[in-house]
Amino acid sequence: MKVFAVIGYTKTGKTTTIEEIIKELKRRNYSVGSVKDIHFEQFKIDQEGTNTHRHMMAGSELVTARGLFETDILYQKQLDIYQIASFYDHDFLVLEGYSEANVPKIVTGKNFQDLDEKIDQSTFAVSGRIAAEIAEYKGLKAINALENVAGLVDLIEEISFELLPDYDQQCCGACGYDCRTMCGLIVSGKKKRSDCIINQDDVSLKINDKAIPMVPFVARLVKNAALAVVSELDGYQENAHIKIEFGYNEKKYRKK
Ligand code: SF4
Repeated sequence: MKVFAVIGYTKTGKTTTIEEIIKELKRRNYSVGSVKDIHFEQFKIDQEGTNTHRHMMAGSELVTARGLFETDILYQKQLDIYQIASFYDHDFLVLEGYSEANVPKIVTGKNFQDLDEKIDQSTFAVSGRIAAEIAEYKGLKAINALENVAGLVDLIEEISFELLPDYDQQCCGACGYDCRTMCGLIVSGKKKRSDCIINQDDVSLKINDKAIPMVPFVARLVKNAALAVVSELDGYQENAHIKIEFGYNEKKYRKK
């Protein structure tokens, strides 16, 4: 799944840009999902006094509102982009906002100052209101989505890529950089997404549903240790898909 973001201040044409991009991606027969990042502290879909809010206040940790035409699952916490992306299985995932994600970005603005404050190494185009007046800004193509959405989506098809992890060089650095720097290098064409060597092995590790990256050497250690035990068991088949899960069972170990 390819992921990209459209970022920019409010009233710069961000949502309009996304609407047009989604419509054009659909015209090209792609499946599309989207995420809107909201910074308004008081934001909550669930309102005090509703039945679902009463469930939550009573202690329910995950509340679902199931309607005839919509199902809303209400987490009582902010999820990170990796947890959110795990719900999606689309050709493209569009993020509105989310400037900290390691994804290629389109920056919208209504003036040059807006652009200067948002553009970074991961920016591959500028759009929004200002893009109706200019064709290029500091080496980046400026494309207003209402005027030339096909041109903008051509760029998205060419540049966007699978979500990179988010590790500093001490945690991983297997590519020689941190993930943020690597994202910028991929966007500028100096590196390829496949140069991130994490998770290219056939071993994955999740702790509390969060994917933990392993350099290939560690991934091989984990795989060999698990296979040494599992291959002795009845039912083992070579090249089978093997899943091992374990964790602390609070109820089992709680003192009576
Ligand atoms: S190899 Fe991948 S996960 Fe590791 S630092 Fe580079 S981009 Fe990040």
